Amino acid sequence: MKIKSAEFIISAVSKAQYPEGNLPEIALAGRSNVGKSSFINKLLNRRNLARTSSKPGKTQTLNYYFINESFYFVDVPGYGYAKTSKTERAAWGKMIESYLMGRPQLQCVISLVDLRHPPSKDDVLMYNFLKHYEIPVIVVATKADKIPRGKWQKHLKVVKETLDVDPRDPVVLFSSETGLGKEEAWQEIQKFLHD
Ligand code: GDP
Repeated sequence: MKIKSAEFIISAVSKAQYPEGNLPEIALAGRSNVGKSSFINKLLNRRNLARTSSKPGKTQTLNYYFINESFYFVDVPGYGYAKTSKTERAAWGKMIESYLMGRPQLQCVISLVDLRHPPSKDDVLMYNFLKHYEIPVIVVATKADKIPRGKWQKHLKVVKETLDVDPRDPVVLFSSETGLGKEEAWQEIQKFLHD
């Protein structure tokens, strides 16, 4: 995918702020620190468009990025941050649920998990939620550079088994350090973009 333009549009706190129109949206979800901002930056060839790390807490907004003036990346706030209060967690759940279930522009969700560890309970919940509502999923296993190549398949197997991944869903091995999986991720995303 050639990135001609990529710009941050809005941190939306309510439905009224989501962009108008019918352009396709690709959402990105994962626990805090999984490498979601790094993934966005890598795919868009930007060093710092999505802010990376050390910002947990203040993330109850959907961040919209407008790409090639034809579709959006929607950065969903990371889940599973230990210090989040119950109230914040409930607010997060409500917002995400209403976005994921009530947004016809949403074409698919990129569900990011850390290749180093078995997916967390929250990762499993998210994946099951998406499957339940028949929202297409691309699983991206991040930080592959932190695992020796010889162990990739073993770790991928744990990811697939823990999530009980539908064999039809793509699972992309990714590293924002080396760029591994970038083209494959774009290929999968492009299947959801009508031209
Ligand atoms: P987010 O909270 O999900 O947006 O995660 P970030 O993109 O901010 O990444 C969290 C931390 O993991 C940062 O210190 C990143 O530099 C690091 N990180 C993210 N992706 C990778 C990766 O593919 N490889 C390595 N080695 N580190 C990564």
